[in-house]
This record gives sequence, structure tokens and C-alpha cells, in this order.
Amino acid sequence: MLKSICIFGAGSAGWLTALSIRNKLPEISITLLSSNKNSNIGVGESTQPNLVQLLQNSGINLYDFMKNVDVTLKHGIFYKNWNKKETSYWHPFTNMSERSFYTPAHFYQQKINEGNTSYSHEKYYKEVHSSYSLCVENNLSSVELPFAFHIDANKMADYIENFLREKIKIIKFDDYDVKVHDNKISKIICDGHEVVADLYIDCSGFNKVLISKVSDCKTDEYKGRVNTALFGRVYYDSPNVINHPYTKAEAHDCGWTWVTPLQSKVGSGWIYNDLFSTEETAKQEFVKYWGGALKEENIRKVKFSSESLIDPWVTNVVSIGLSSGFIEPLEATGISWFIISADILGSILRNRYFDKYISQRYNTLIRSYIEDVQDFVDVHYCLSSRLDSEFWKTQKFNISDRLKSRLENYRKYMPNKSNRDTSIAWGFNDVSWIDILNGYEFEYEKIDVPDLSAYILKK
Ligand SMILES: Cc1cc2nc3c(=O)[nH]c(=O)nc-3n(C[C@H](O)[C@H](O)[C@H](O)COP(=O)(O)OP(=O)(O)OC[C@H]3O[C@@H](n4cnc5c(N)ncnc54)[C@H](O)[C@@H]3O)c2cc1C
Repeated sequence: MLKSICIFGAGSAGWLTALSIRNKLPEISITLLSSNKNSNIGVGESTQPNLVQLLQNSGINLYDFMKNVDVTLKHGIFYKNWNKKETSYWHPFTNMSERSFYTPAHFYQQKINEGNTSYSHEKYYKEVHSSYSLCVENNLSSVELPFAFHIDANKMADYIENFLREKIKIIKFDDYDVKVHDNKISKIICDGHEVVADLYIDCSGFNKVLISKVSDCKTDEYKGRVNTALFGRVYYDSPNVINHPYTKAEAHDCGWTWVTPLQSKVGSGWIYNDLFSTEETAKQEFVKYWGGALKEENIRKVKFSSESLIDPWVTNVVSIGLSSGFIEPLEATGISWFIISADILGSILRNRYFDKYISQRYNTLIRSYIEDVQDFVDVHYCLSSRLDSEFWKTQKFNISDRLKSRLENYRKYMPNKSNRDTSIAWGFNDVSWIDILNGYEFEYEKIDVPDLSAYILKK
């Protein structure tokens, strides 16, 4: 029977997991172990709406959170130069797909396929999503549109720590020792103090402190397109630094650049594949991109791999956050992934009991989510028409059989409720897929979408 949970690590994953588990399993005792030499990665500023939901469900005052965590509203992601140079597309948060099987997005695509010249890939975003005109053309935000937050990751960790201070046990430590018996963690000794729990959650980031004690940490064979990020901050006192209610993702010769505006500053990263660029060149390009607003000495670097554990739950250890895997920053899937993980874990533990069948079920659910997200991220690269650099030339040929088969299915039927199974954990809804595919002028076969012309935002 499950009575106690111990979380190791006090980054975004540790705090958000504690918040989520406390909501779902209020009578379980939760201990969070936070190192005095805390070294949170400190990136992860663009989020998805499930963060807002988790905060609300936890009883956090959103206004207070926004004020203290340097938050701005995010309504989507604006993509520039991905299909071809000087082209752009828009991926907003939308609840359109919750309302009906076929949506105005489906109808619009059908009209493009029919060759009706009043409809085009270029005008699609403006004529299907009201957020395009408001957010992209007029730089405005509205709480009437679905939204997520841009956050300062370190401030969020401090805020949630304060919120949870009286609600869970928080132990600060300098030294620790993990004891294992019979391939299970039996206790963690922090500065001589023993912590014993029924279940341990590893939120130690790339170090995988707990899961590596009980598992060989086998990862999947997915290969990411990029592997290095340079990142820094720019400030609004520079003329080319502006605030916008969306994350900007701008493709460059060997990767892409993120721009996430906060209230007091803008977070930015230059993501690349080190097979195609040296660090020195990438730094110079990144500095040039910001035209003097970013100094080379303020740039930090992180190298990452796009691996994820086949089994994030082994015996009495569940890994959540970067310890369980990562794809890349595109589409802001990191924080969303561990909110979903903690949510599924809380649901699966509802009976206060676990065994190997329950952990297998959890692992299967998480895998289906990860594969969905891997395909979604991949499609941004492999459908691109860009052939202007070695990096872009390789993208087209690097497409998995799983994604090929998915795209064939979508070509025949469009992404819809029946081929986007929402009964299990999944990443992006059918309209999100249509939005991205439209950016690459993806062609569908004819299907019978009912007339939804009344919903098209034509002038
Ligand atoms: C370049 C990059 C950009 C990203 N951008 C986004 C984004 O925009 N949106 C998004 O949703 N996600 C993003 N992510 C992914 C992820 O959401 C964030 O990185 C997230 O903040 C990581 O949280 P974490 O808690 O798993 O890891 P960490 O922040 O690394 O926290 C790990 C914790 O474990 C502790 N710890 C680790 N090892 C030890 C040890 N040996 N002893 C004691 N303590 C230890 C650390 O002190 C720390 O408290 C990004 C990731 C990267 C790499």
C-alpha cells in the first residue's frame, strides 16, 4: 500500500510533480529533497496550457503567480523560415477540435484541395484562427483565447516552493547516499537523516540520480535533429527587443532560434546540431541575430540528447522531467510532458497501490505520448522545402517509418478524432497537426467535410 512518496530534485519537474501529486493524492505524505548546491538547468520558459490548469487546480492565485514569476501570456508559436525562407506559419492554442469532429480547419483544407482560389495555405491562419489577427498582426493578447504562460523557470521553482512549504515536507541537504536493496531503493540518507518512502520519484534532471540505481536506463532509438542550445537574455531597452504574446521559433541554417518574452526581459536560445556548426560560429550568429542586445559573455550553453527512457518506472522509482527524457525545445513539450506524467501517475495510484503491472501500464501510456510528440516535432523539419544548407538537405531524408505511415493516414483522412486517439495520453490535437501541415502546403485526398463556410473569417 502506498502511504509515502519521496521526490528527489528541486527543478521545475520536482516542484510541479509535488504540486500535481498533492492535488491527486492529498492524504499521501510527500517529501521533496532539495540540494543546497541546487543547480536547476534554468531553461524552459515557454509552456502549454496544462501548466495554467495545474496551477489553478492547486489553488494558486494566477494573478499573484504572474506577478512574481515574470509571466506573459502565450497564445501560440509563430514560425518563420521553416518551409522556405521568408515564409511563416502560426500554431495557436485552440479548443476548436473539442467542439466537433470536423472543424473550420478541416473545411478550409478541403477547399484548398478543391482548387478554390478564394482559399490558400497563406491565408489559412488569418481566416481560420481569430488569434492570428489579434496576436500576430496586432501584437495583442486576450484571456478569451486559450493561453499558456511564458515563465522565468527559476522564479517558478521559488514560487512553488513557497506555496508548498507548509503542505509537504521539504528537506535541504548537502550530502546524500542512496541505499538499494533487491533492486529497489530502500532509503536515501541526507546529511545523516534517513528518508524512507514507498515510492521514489527521480526529478534529478539529466543526472538520473535514482533511476540509474535500479535500471539500465535503456532509451529509445529516436534521433533528434538538434543537440546543442546556446541561451541568454535580452532587455527591452534595446530597440529590436519587443514583447509579443507568442513564442517565436525562427529557423536558421543549422537549427532554429527561440524567443520567449517575459515581463522584464526576453529569453532566447540558438539551437543547432553540432555536426553542422561549431560553437564559435553559432555564438557569432546568435550575437548577430540580436544586433548588439546580447553579449557573448552572457551566453550559456547546454548540450542535450533527444533520448527518452523505455521504462521511466522501474520497481519503486519513477523518473519525471529531464531524468526520463527530452526531445528538444521545439513546441515547448518538456514541462507539458512532466505535467502529463505526474497527472497519469496520480491517476494510476488512485487505489494507493502499485505492482509491476501498474508500472508497465504507466510506461505504455507515457510511451504513446512521447511517440506522438516525437512525430509532431519531426514533421516541422522533414517536410521543409529548404535545401540551402547541409543541415536542411539532410532533414527530408531523415523520416521514420512510423511518421511516414502516419502522414499517409492523414493524407487520406486528414488528422481527425478517430486517427488522433484521445483516450490515451497524446500530445497535439488534430487542428494542431493541420496547422503545422498547412505551413508545409501538405496536400490531402478529398474527403467529405460538411460546409463550415460560416465560420471562415473572410472579410
Ligand atoms: C535547451 C533547453 C530548452 C528547453 N526549453 C523548454 C521550454 O521552452 N519549454 C519546456 O516546457 N521545456 C523546455 N525544456 C525542458 C525542461 O522542461 C526544462 O529544462 C526543465 O526546466 C527541466 O526540469 P528538471 O526539473 O527535469 O531538471 P533540472 O532543472 O535540471 O533540475 C534537476 C534538479 O535535481 C538536482 N540534482 C541533480 N543532480 C543532483 C545530484 N547529484 N545531487 C543533488 N541534487 C541533484 C538539481 O540540483 C536540480 O534541483 C528545455 C530544455 C532544454 C535543455
